[in-house]
Parts: sequence; C-alpha cells; structure tokens
Amino acid sequence: MQRHEVVVVGAGLAGQRAALAAIQAGRDVAVVSKLHPLRSHSGAAQGGINAALGKEDSVDTHIYDTVKGSDYLGDQDAIEFFCREAGPTVVEMEHFGTIFSRGDDGSLARRAFGGAGFPRTIYAADRTGLALLQGLWERLGTERFTLYEEWDLTDLVVRDGRVHGIIAFDRKGGDFEEIAAKSVVLATGPFGRVYGRTTNAHSCTGDGVAVAYAAGAYLKDMEFVQFHPTALLESGILITEGARGEGGILKNAAGERFMSRYAPHVLDLASRDVVSRAIVTEVAEGRGFDGPFGKYVHLELMHLGKEKVMSRLQEIVDYCRNFAGIDPVTEPIPVYPGQHYMMGGIGTDIRGATNIRGLFAAGEGACVSIHGANRLGGNSLLETLVFGKEAGIAAAAHAETAPKPEMHSADLDAVVAPLRAWSNRKDGEDPTALREEMQTTMDRYVGIYRNEADLLEGLKRIRAIKARFPNVHVVDQSHVYNLNLTDALEVGHMLELAETIVVGAYARTESRGAHARTDYPKRDDARWMRHTLAQKTPQGPSLSYSPVTYTRWEPKERVY
Ligand SMILES: Cc1cc2nc3c(=O)[nH]c(=O)nc-3n(C[C@H](O)[C@H](O)[C@H](O)COP(=O)(O)OP(=O)(O)OC[C@H]3O[C@@H](n4cnc5c(N)ncnc54)[C@H](O)[C@@H]3O)c2cc1C
Repeated sequence: MQRHEVVVVGAGLAGQRAALAAIQAGRDVAVVSKLHPLRSHSGAAQGGINAALGKEDSVDTHIYDTVKGSDYLGDQDAIEFFCREAGPTVVEMEHFGTIFSRGDDGSLARRAFGGAGFPRTIYAADRTGLALLQGLWERLGTERFTLYEEWDLTDLVVRDGRVHGIIAFDRKGGDFEEIAAKSVVLATGPFGRVYGRTTNAHSCTGDGVAVAYAAGAYLKDMEFVQFHPTALLESGILITEGARGEGGILKNAAGERFMSRYAPHVLDLASRDVVSRAIVTEVAEGRGFDGPFGKYVHLELMHLGKEKVMSRLQEIVDYCRNFAGIDPVTEPIPVYPGQHYMMGGIGTDIRGATNIRGLFAAGEGACVSIHGANRLGGNSLLETLVFGKEAGIAAAAHAETAPKPEMHSADLDAVVAPLRAWSNRKDGEDPTALREEMQTTMDRYVGIYRNEADLLEGLKRIRAIKARFPNVHVVDQSHVYNLNLTDALEVGHMLELAETIVVGAYARTESRGAHARTDYPKRDDARWMRHTLAQKTPQGPSLSYSPVTYTRWEPKERVY
C-alpha cells in the first residue's frame, strides 16, 4: 500500500493546478491519472480563456455576463470570486511559460466569445488548452511529487463521513492498488461520453464523479448539459466558438443568416444554448441541409480571407481537411450541435470542499456552481485553474491537521471481488454494446429539447441498461493493459451519471439555460430558482434542492 498526505486524481489543468498548490503548501502529494497528463482533455480546448484585462473591460462586466449566461442559477458569490481571480490567473500562466497570441502592439490578443459583453477571451491560436497544459506541466515538473500514470481510480475509501484513501487499477501492472491519503482531490474531468454525439475525448467518462457519488457525495445540477452549436458533422469534432469570434457566420440552406431571428443584437455570438436551439429549430422546420451523415447548417469562414483563417484557426482548417474532406478557406463547414460540456458535477463550495470530510473536487467534474444552467465559452479553462488552486490549498490545509487514514484489507477485497467476477464468467453483457445503447438513448431522449414523455422513456431505457450491467463480461484475460476491463469500469460509471441527468431533467419542470422543456417553455423562478442535489440510493438518485446565492444581480429575462 502507498501512503501520501494529499492524493490528486486527474492530471488535466484542474488536477495539475491543485497538485501545485498542495505541494507549495508543503504537503507530500501524489497525482494519479489514467492518461499521460498531456493527453488530458484540457489539451483539446481550442478557443481560449476569459479574463477582463485592460481599461475598456471590467471585472464587473465579466461577472454580469457569467450571471446572465448561467440564466441566474450560478452562485453569485462564487462568480464574483472567480472573475476577480481571472486576471492574476492568466498572468500567472504566462509566467509559467504559456505562449499566448499577441496583438500588433505586443499586448495579449483577445477575441469575442458568445454571451460576452466585451472581447475578453485570451488565446493561443486555436490550441489554447494545450498551450496552458504544457506551461503548467513544465512548472509542475520543477516540484517533487509522485506520479501514478495510467492508474484508474475505481473507488474511494470513506468511513465515518471521512475519506481515508483511494483504490485504483494499475493498467501496466494489472493489479488493484490502495493509496492511503488524508485528503483526496477529484479532478477527473468531463463525462460527455454519456452521449454519442459529443466533442469530448473517449476518456471523458466521469469516473471521479461516479466514484464520489457511490461514496455518498452530492452531485449538483446534473440535468444541465451544454450542447455546442458547431460540432463538425460526421465526427462531432469541435469547431471552436473562436471561429464565430473571428467573424464566422451561420447560414441555413436558403442562404439566410438565420441568427438574426433568434438573437437580433449579437447574432452568431449569442450564448451556446441559444445558438444550438436555433440550429435545431432551423433544421426541424426544413431549412437545413441534408446529407448522408444527417441534417446540418453551414458555418462560413470564406469571407475572412486565407491569411486570417490560417493564422487564427489553423487547427480548424486541419480538422476540416482531415475529417470532412473540405477546405474552410474556400468552402462552408457542415455543422450541427453536439454535447460539449457538463454544467453539473460533484457539489463543492468555493474552496472545493464536498460533503465528505477530506474529499475535494475541481474542474469540469465539479460544480461550484459558477456556470449555473449554461456555461460561457472561455470560462471553464479559467475554472480549472482558479478552483483547482483553491481545492489544492484546502486539501493541503485539511491534511495538515487530519488524523492518520485507516485502510483495511477488507476495503480492497470488497472492491476487487465483484470485478474479478466480470472476467471469470463464461458469458454476459458486452460493455461496448451497453455503452452504445446508453449513448443512443441519451442522444435521442435527453437532448437539446426535452419533454416529459421522452424523459420517461429515456429513464426507462437507461434503467434497463443499468440493470444488465452487473452481468457485464470482460472477455480479455490479459493481466497488463486490460482495456476491456477499464472500458467496463467506465460504462458502469457513465450509467450511474446518465441516470442522474435524466432524473434531474424529468423533475425540473421549467426551461432554464441549456435545459429546454418544450412542455414547460418558461423559466419558473418561483419554483425552480434552486440547485438540484442528487444522492445515491439503492433505488436510484434521491433528489433534494438547495438555494442559489445572490449578491448584486436580480434575475431578469435573458435576451441577446
Ligand atoms: C474539444 C473541447 C474544446 C474545449 N474548448 C474550450 C475552450 O476553448 N475554452 C474553455 O474555457 N473550455 C473549453 N473546453 C472545456 C474545458 O477544456 C474543460 O472543461 C477542461 O479542460 C476540463 O479540465 P479538467 O482538468 O477538469 O479535466 P481533464 O483535462 O479532462 O482532465 C481529466 C484528468 O482526469 C484523469 N482521469 C479521468 N478518469 C480517471 C480515473 N478513473 N483515474 C485516474 N485518472 C482519471 C485523466 O487522465 C485526466 O488527466 C473544451 C472542451 C472540449 C472537449
């Protein structure tokens, strides 16, 4: 058994920033990651990171935009803290070595992003996430810590409301291992793979969120799922909002710039939920294009000129050429919305603390909540760094005074015995088939527009798939790199999370932000200005609600 004071699970931006903070506070830190740190999904972020810098912009405008973008479900104390930290965070990343794009006068270049009152998205061409991840990884590399690479978290050890450590599967060694810890920070990232049509990497399966839920943590606002308006047609690869920020425009099959009907003031740069619904409506009303890979609209960049497209959106050009066989310099890009971001996650306070002592969470898998019902583009890279650091500081402080963790050999046995049964049985359910059925169910019944009948059907189907899961069969008998086993673990996690999304969406009889109910089209502040909390029970998620925190901004109707 290994022992550390603080264990950070996840080595994307949130996990690395948490680890750095805990190391700087003088603790013995381990980082556990199922991927090489630089392969974390943070590295796929294209468009940029928000900070109100310079005289023309203000932190207050950033706060207001975020509150409005959240459809007034974001906690305003957390949003205020978050936006104030933005400037220092970006400057710190620059000092860590991130090379951002710059304007002609040498200052940090900024681009316009959806729902923002000012162009405040700082970027490194269209590979901002990778630039940040590399800068932070280099900085972390100057510190002393232990890295458990290609280890998959499978369980938390929690007794008497307190965390004692984790259990993880070592892919290379082929064994389940225990790591005792006084504090655990979960930074395991997104769970977009619950859906089939998603911009998220294959690794985005929400393991930490499901493991925390199983251990008794509250999951918050799980029904709020962001669909990005512009995912490349066949593959679902993201075409960054930066493409519209640089002047790209959306057109329907009649050649109309249709966003003038839905957001007359800001057009293509309305917030993501608004633009995604507009595209779905255009297509549903017969004004989309139709092709072998489904219906779509066009995103045009041709009028921007080759030089601008090639310098600002180089990766997008490569994606379009390699995955759609088109050249966006001279041709329109076929796009349709795809799942992109989860507003919900492990419920935490501003310091990353959960309802379990010694358990902290940060990044996309956590819900503070600053994004409320809808996240603004450029706010989540910032979230990983701001709240990753807070969680690291809080985890270090907790570890300083917490008693020694107690791990029992029975903890490991209890986890491993049922998993061994998956490999020992002669036949059973194929994890890949279960995953695909879950994904098509979520795409079809729990998508952009929702209604009671669809959600009930979706829930019935997800529960039926979940009921088959205990009979899952791991065919591969390999000791090392048994990806069949890790696939099965991931499907089990995602099924739990899918259920919390549908149950939350069914219960919330209003439309707010990304949660659009055709049978309840209005926002209902009197009943629903509150966070959904889901806690695991043998019968499925049990829901309760908590109030939204206000400071200065009264709820108003949200128009763009
Ligand atoms: C294509 C794309 C583009 C985006 N563009 C932008 C953008 O321009 N601006 C913006 O603000 N946001 C953007 N986002 C969102 C943003 O990138 C993410 O929300 C953020 O990077 C998530 O960071 P994270 O540290 O929480 O998770 P990740 O970076 O996903 O890291 C998760 C880590 O957890 C580890 N892990 C997962 N499960 C386990 C397990 N069981 N055991 C051990 N380790 C585990 C992984 O190995 C990984 O290291 C984008 C997202 C996508 C998908």
